[in-house]
Amino acid sequence: MKYCTKCGKELADEAQFCPSCGTPTRVTSVQSGATNTRNESGLELAIRILLIISCVLGAFAIIPLIWRIPMTMWYFDKKKNNESVSLTFKICSIFFLDLIAGILMLIDDGN
Ligand SMILES: [Zn+2]
Repeated sequence: MKYCTKCGKELADEAQFCPSCGTPTRVTSVQSGATNTRNESGLELAIRILLIISCVLGAFAIIPLIWRIPMTMWYFDKKKNNESVSLTFKICSIFFLDLIAGILMLIDDGN
């Protein structure tokens, strides 16, 4: 049994147009087929959105990467000159550089 895509009225199998609203029945199929098509496109849409989000997040990941190199070099430089590393730098390291290295910096009382 076919149903009108526009008004949902039950149609005769041979009907070319909906007798109620005049919508062509060509695109209308058995209800299960129509449901499957809708689910697939919904899933596809979700995948597309997730891919776009991951691309955007990937682009933002470059920003902390730009910070990591100078911060690492700064830390090496400080240690080479036997200078102390500030608490702010240690906390920033936890968030932007490396979680474990930042915690180890906090534990390290040598500076
Ligand atoms: Zn109709």
